[in-house]
Amino acid sequence: MLVVVPTPIGNRQDITLRALESLKSADLIAAEDTRHSGLLLQHLGIKKPFLSLHGHNESSRCSEVAERIAGGATVALITDAGTPGISDPGRRLVETCVARSLLVTVLPGPCAAVTALVGSGFPCDRFFFGGFLPVKSGRRHRELSEAAARSETSVFYESPHRLTKTLAALTEVAPTRKLCVARELTKTFEEYRRGTAAELLAHYEAHPPKGEITLLIAGAETEPGE
Ligand code: SAM
Repeated sequence: MLVVVPTPIGNRQDITLRALESLKSADLIAAEDTRHSGLLLQHLGIKKPFLSLHGHNESSRCSEVAERIAGGATVALITDAGTPGISDPGRRLVETCVARSLLVTVLPGPCAAVTALVGSGFPCDRFFFGGFLPVKSGRRHRELSEAAARSETSVFYESPHRLTKTLAALTEVAPTRKLCVARELTKTFEEYRRGTAAELLAHYEAHPPKGEITLLIAGAETEPGE
């Protein structure tokens, strides 16, 4: 069986009892970065054989892992933080197991996008998740324009180094839209900062952002008068 196990996005206490149990009982742990995950498992007092499964070897490793599962092994899949498959490796392995009719189970757990969405206070009955915003400015501009036209909340992962550029682009494509920068969630300096693009741009130009960031753009129907 393949068990997809979300891990904390900052606060190590956010490991669930089922995640602990699954990691303890797995025959093998497939991890995005074995050194990084080694530290978490050491903290949890778990010692298991590791196999690396990251963005660059996922395709080739899939059949090897699926073969182990077909032979009766229970493999737990983890990434550096959060839910595997969400802007992280994992999707191909799940697809391979499904194609081979191998049992797959996914534990619910930490995910920055969902945590940020709920904490933003923006409507979360329907939402769009865009993963990482494109690095190239033309594509990023297009993605932001599409978000501005959407009626539901849009959620993106963003780098602290590009946040002010993105906010500057948003002053053009969505000047009155409510935005939320969710930063360092579950960590000591957790912050939800809400405002228009110009307000947030002024803040982050004066206080350059650090750490991990999820950016939320409220839907068009939350605009005043709409
Ligand atoms: N699979 C992960 C999940 O379920 O959230 C996401 C992995 S993706 C490679 C990492 C990105 O998620 C970061 O660059 C950041 O944009 C966002 N992120 C991760 N942890 C975060 C946190 N504690 N606070 C805000 N955003 C976070």
